[in-house]
Amino acid sequence: MQSTSLVTNLQPGDSAAGWRLARAFTHLRPDSISHFGCVTLLYLVVSLGGNALTRTPAVADIIWPANGLLLAFLLCLPRRCWPVYLAASILANVVAHSFFRFPISQSLLFSAGNTVEVLVAAWLLSNRNATQPDLAKIRTLVKFVLLGVLLAPLCSSAFIELVLFIEKTPSTMLSVTTWFIGDVMGIAVMTPLVLAIDEAEVMALFRPGKRTETFAILTGLGLLSTLVFALDGLPVDFLLIPALLLAIFRLGSSGSAIGIIIIAGPAVYMTERNHGAFALVRADMFIHSIFILQCFMCAALILLYSVNSALKERDKLQEAVTAAFYEADANAGRDHMTGLANRRSFDKRLSREWQYAFRERLSISLLMIDVDRFKLYNDHYGHIAGDECLRKVASILTEAALRSTDLVARYGGEEFAIILPGAGHHTASVFAERIRQSVAETRLPHAFDPQGIVTISAGVATVHPSNDVEMTTLVERADRALYEAKKRGRDRIELWSASGW
Ligand code: GH3
Ligand code: MG
Ligand code: MG
Repeated sequence: MQSTSLVTNLQPGDSAAGWRLARAFTHLRPDSISHFGCVTLLYLVVSLGGNALTRTPAVADIIWPANGLLLAFLLCLPRRCWPVYLAASILANVVAHSFFRFPISQSLLFSAGNTVEVLVAAWLLSNRNATQPDLAKIRTLVKFVLLGVLLAPLCSSAFIELVLFIEKTPSTMLSVTTWFIGDVMGIAVMTPLVLAIDEAEVMALFRPGKRTETFAILTGLGLLSTLVFALDGLPVDFLLIPALLLAIFRLGSSGSAIGIIIIAGPAVYMTERNHGAFALVRADMFIHSIFILQCFMCAALILLYSVNSALKERDKLQEAVTAAFYEADANAGRDHMTGLANRRSFDKRLSREWQYAFRERLSISLLMIDVDRFKLYNDHYGHIAGDECLRKVASILTEAALRSTDLVARYGGEEFAIILPGAGHHTASVFAERIRQSVAETRLPHAFDPQGIVTISAGVATVHPSNDVEMTTLVERADRALYEAKKRGRDRIELWSASGW
């Protein structure tokens, strides 16, 4: 329980600094004195800063952000580091409540209540690896809402009620409800905000290109909230819903969490001074306005979390569909048996390289390769062994193609093709001879070959693309050269030449 209304005074421009601060805190040596001092100071600043912004005569807070902040820190740390944080927050609590002019006994009670709350939430939500919970996952979010947002403040409220009961100090049901909701909102707003701030998403909001939109939407939210809560006698608070939805869709989870805080600022300030939509409820009972404002903020948070979760689920689904599409596209261009590019990829790539060579006035070479006497191989060893042999030849060809721009493809059956962009006549023929030798040196047995091994023949053609020559000419020439290599005895390469053979 806290004495007065608090909202965090985090402003959009501070978020990068806030993020660095949070990171700095979680990276400090957890057992150091300076660490203890820093956490105490931060908790105190958040408590007093919020209080200064939303000083109120109400008996309980509209929102208490310090617990949410502390919970976020604990969820990022291993449990052995918690005592330092908890001790620091107890000290800060006592100092803050003393500052709010509470007697020391009550300051201690509120401090204990807050500690119970943070401890219960952190214990139930943390995991052994101290990896922070991913609130974009529906299961984690539901767990966070049930255990962190609802159960933990319920425990602290019950704890304080119990102590007050034992002390025989009277407390009203309404004030208990109000402080419960204040704590609920503190955790619901601050914890996801600090956890989200750890992600690149917040940084992206303030990058050049996006910055103007982020500031425009956040400023718009602040102005609209000021207007809605400044107008007496006109309950137009519903206007904030589409504005908040815009923030959710355009700024994502962390941006819209900042938006909620910006809405909360004028809302709390005006309602406390009995202005705006909720001041209408019961002018004679101020606490009702605060309670209705809390309910409104809770509804806004539920909207934010549910739409954000749905959006993140949709994004994940879209990512999965895109990945599946790319995989299917890659598979569609690959030969299933050898893993090489298939005929479809070959045609596409040849056309691209042809156009590039045309523009850049470069040459382009093509090798057509055929396994010799492969029908006999199949007949003798069977199709399964034949497939294995083709896979081996394919891997020899792949290893031989050293440049990333070269493309080795299965052209069809036991025929392969290699595109060598930019390669001239000489380079292409040296390359062809090298792979012929590589296949022969592998000495894969072939019972019906005169040498007793698997060999290949290759036809090589080189062209300078121009308006006078078509792309198909390159394929035809390489094919003719291959035919010539077969005719001249196999296990050899032939180069296409204009003068013929
Ligand atoms: P040449 O030296 O003149 O090229 O003789 P060849 O026997 O290799 O020529 P041909 O074109 O007559 O035979 C090709 C054989 O390749 C026919 C077919 O059984 C075999 N073949 C084509 N595709 C595959 C395949 O995917 N797997 C297997 N195992 N064999 C294939
Ligand atoms: Mg053939
Ligand atoms: Mg053949």
